[in-house]
Amino acid sequence: MDCIFCKITEGTIPSKKVFENERIVAFHDISPAAPVHILIIPKKHIPTMNDVTEEDGPLVAELFAAARQIAREQGIAESGYRLVNNVNQDGGQVVYHLHVHLLGGSKLSPILGEIKS
Ligand code: 5GP
Ligand code: ZN
Repeated sequence: MDCIFCKITEGTIPSKKVFENERIVAFHDISPAAPVHILIIPKKHIPTMNDVTEEDGPLVAELFAAARQIAREQGIAESGYRLVNNVNQDGGQVVYHLHVHLLGGSKLSPILGEIKS
């Protein structure tokens, strides 16, 4: 399967990993949008949030648990952070393997809502 994040999971594409267990891996985003920008992904190939099933519930909970732990380890739990999941074209999804962005380390600009142009 031609999926960048599956290749990162397998180690055939290198990444700067900060967390890994049997089900989840987290690594620094290659093009950081904030001082801390880490991607947290399931090892299982799930294309988008739309493809998450009932049985994936514990896995999704574990993604958020990993995000909490990584935020603490990165020293941004108290200062604050943002978790983002982009879905499909209008959501700005580029890589079609489920991932949560962990962003922090500075005051983030408001990004929620429609882009007015
Ligand atoms: P999306 O727009 O799909 O929510 O986010 C995809 C993210 O993956 C982007 O922030 C992009 O910088 C990051 N990314 C794309 N290719 C690679 C890669 O090969 N390695 C790493 N570490 N990040 C990547
Ligand atoms: Zn994948």
